[in-house]
Amino acid sequence: MCESNACGLCGKCWMCPPDVGGIDALMAELRGYSCGILYQSIAQLEDSFDFEGMQAGGKAHSQRSLALDAALRKAGHCEYLHLSKGGCGVCATCAKVENKPCRFPEKALASLEAYGVNVSATVKHTSMKYINGVNTVTYFGLILFKENVPCPD
Ligand code: SF4
Repeated sequence: MCESNACGLCGKCWMCPPDVGGIDALMAELRGYSCGILYQSIAQLEDSFDFEGMQAGGKAHSQRSLALDAALRKAGHCEYLHLSKGGCGVCATCAKVENKPCRFPEKALASLEAYGVNVSATVKHTSMKYINGVNTVTYFGLILFKENVPCPD
């Protein structure tokens, strides 16, 4: 999916393929977590060509993910893996574009897809929907915890 570069971020973000790492190693890392919280943001669009609305929805989702991440760190969680939509979202333009080091490695978020998560298949096992109606766009995030960390029900 990422190699098809539909989002235009492949090779332009440290948190996206190929720079985020090899998919086999990332999937192995992900399998070290045993429970988690899947969440979604649903953005309303004016119509199916509302590119600005899609961008605004994606930005709002990234901001929610960053706020959640900050809250997790403030609560003292350290052994978790937080994945969000593609493109990290911390900086307006990733430092990768200028081939400079990541500006905020402690904040940077990779995507579910980069870690090999089939989001549409995963959602089928939840009460959420992958597609949420005409003129909407849905973004997902996933916070995974180790077995020895108490997880919410
Ligand atoms: S924190 Fe900034 S520089 Fe680092 S991966 Fe994210 S967007 Fe790129």
